[in-house]
Amino acid sequence: MALDPARVVSQLRELQELTGDENGAQRVAWTETWDTARAWLDGLLSGLPLERERDEAGNDWWTLRGDDDRAVLIGGHIDSVPNGGWLDGALNVVAGAEVLRRIAEGATPPVTVRLVNWADEEGARFGRSLFGSSAASGSMADQDELRELKDRDGVSLPDALAASGVDLDRALEARSQLESAAAYLELHIEQGPVLESMGLPLGAVLGTYGVERWRITWTGQAAHAGSTPMDKRRDALAGAAKLALEIREIAARVGNGAVCTSGGVICKPGIVTSVVETAEQLLDQRHLDASSLAELLDAAQAASWRFAQEENIEVDWERIWSIEPILFDETLIGLADEAVREVSGTSHKLPSGPLHDAAEVSRAGIPTVMLFVQSLRGLSHTKLEDTREDHLELSVAALDRLTSKTIAWLTA
Ligand SMILES: [Zn+2]
Repeated sequence: MALDPARVVSQLRELQELTGDENGAQRVAWTETWDTARAWLDGLLSGLPLERERDEAGNDWWTLRGDDDRAVLIGGHIDSVPNGGWLDGALNVVAGAEVLRRIAEGATPPVTVRLVNWADEEGARFGRSLFGSSAASGSMADQDELRELKDRDGVSLPDALAASGVDLDRALEARSQLESAAAYLELHIEQGPVLESMGLPLGAVLGTYGVERWRITWTGQAAHAGSTPMDKRRDALAGAAKLALEIREIAARVGNGAVCTSGGVICKPGIVTSVVETAEQLLDQRHLDASSLAELLDAAQAASWRFAQEENIEVDWERIWSIEPILFDETLIGLADEAVREVSGTSHKLPSGPLHDAAEVSRAGIPTVMLFVQSLRGLSHTKLEDTREDHLELSVAALDRLTSKTIAWLTA
């Protein structure tokens, strides 16, 4: 049977009817609506010769046995943020289900093909993203913190998991699922404006950005706004302000997609009649190349020490969080690029700003690649999230081609 990309679009609309409301998608993980969505997804694959399994972390697997046990995985997540979009995560698994159906209706494939619906990619209820994929990839190392997490109603994460049949203490046993994995493929909406601005429907993803997140505290001296001459001031905000502008220059200098954001500054005492004594500034820096990311950070720190001296204030840096860049597999990037070119005539390779389940799988050493399809206005995590229907259909065709190419590569 042939692939039917248009069916994927109508199935996605059906899912939105079933699990969304006037404010958007409501498929938050570990809720009844999520369960409804998971059961609906399983229904798409009924009647096919597939093995079904829910692993120890709550991930759902559909397996089509091939001549060889090595497996090509197609993944995504059906969970959403509250008031989310109809495509983020859902496109991946619904398109994956269509590809798996197409293969299952033909002759036994030379390698095993599996679809995975990762549990709780968004972390919307408890603030911990990539739950199921980090458990399966073995990178989940924060079980003690997870035990303490509570949602807004005071329900603990272990209790919410238990209600869905997941025992947090056993979640890491999901690692066995990746033992036979030979490649991991994921289609996703871009969630950014790059492909739209280039007039392209699809792109091959190079990897996910590394991130450095820091809290920078500038300390000066509170002083009366009327009685303190300008040359006697120790103004903490002056340091933060200089740095907020300097990081633009630094990003431009390092280049190759570097992005730096000063996401906020909290000033104290924060009144109109006083010089600012402390300014607490948030900084987020991202790059696909590890040494360029280090360069962004070094340059910002060096500039801050210079500004502290110029303003006669002090500066202190505290790391909030960081993650290294994750580069996808070169061969698979090449196959993804080919697949995109074949279905849409032209291709583009781009990095991903957001993290995805694919990053966790890649970190576990499994050759991984993603496809991006254009997002209208670059919007996501809102009911305004959208993609043209013809682009959605092309993306399903590209995922199908990429899957066939990957199977051929593994059996070459
Ligand atoms: Zn997503």
